[in-house]
Amino acid sequence: MVDAHTHVFVPEVIRERSRYVGHDLWFEHLYADPKSLLIDSNDLLLSMDEAGIDQAVMCGFPWHDLGICREHNDYMDESSRTAGGRLAWLGIVPAGGGRPAAVEAERCFGLGAAGIGELNADAQRFELTDPASLAPVLEVCLSHDKPVMLHATEPVGHAYRGKGTATPDRVIAFLEAFPALRVVLAHWGGGLPFYELMPEIAVAAARVVYDSAASTYLYRPRVFRAVLDVIGPERVLFGSDYPVLRMDRFLRRVRETAALRPEELAPVLGGNARRVYGLTTPDADVIVEEHQL
Ligand SMILES: [Zn+2]
Repeated sequence: MVDAHTHVFVPEVIRERSRYVGHDLWFEHLYADPKSLLIDSNDLLLSMDEAGIDQAVMCGFPWHDLGICREHNDYMDESSRTAGGRLAWLGIVPAGGGRPAAVEAERCFGLGAAGIGELNADAQRFELTDPASLAPVLEVCLSHDKPVMLHATEPVGHAYRGKGTATPDRVIAFLEAFPALRVVLAHWGGGLPFYELMPEIAVAAARVVYDSAASTYLYRPRVFRAVLDVIGPERVLFGSDYPVLRMDRFLRRVRETAALRPEELAPVLGGNARRVYGLTTPDADVIVEEHQL
């Protein structure tokens, strides 16, 4: 069992939320409200134990400031090292940050990051349709053969905090500019899987996988069935966006109401994430110990 999309914060950011609210527009947009939950990696492990989830992929936050990204990356690296293989992480850098951001991406891979993400065009003020500005960071991913996880969003439907403008038309321009890049599109790719019924879009998106982050805020449970029927069982990752969705509740809902076929459970609930992010098996004793708590 792998949750492929979670968010943790440095404890100091949680303690001093208001200071960071004044420092980053997107953080202010999402977290100025003290009721918006922020968690650290210990909270994440507790939630995994409650839900029976063995491994999780941690994302940080799409900071615009490279210095804050660096501190966030150091925290996730440290958390991962002490978690017995249960926590993988994605390095965060401002995607349009040129050479300095590329150097940080390189450093993340040196530390053991499983990819780069969750990149966010609105939060980090880059343009998905301007490939030249993104090339330095993405070339580092290409040279390490690591995936990029990108926030994507629906061009239609209700407005919500964090929705942004990374819609399928822009995402396709991005995919066509980087045809060899391995890409994970968060939040069902803003609906891109449905356009894969168009042959040319299926070609452009063939190496893309989609995660289900925040699914129940956006779609009915049958989104799993609908997407799996279009793109097959190898390209869907179970991800909660925890703490946006509660892991145990979302997992139960998926098992009970998403109409997954028995042969789809293993890839969707873990196997695909392990392949895409290159996860290794956690120490067996760590899982047993944690689950006994
Ligand atoms: Zn997310």
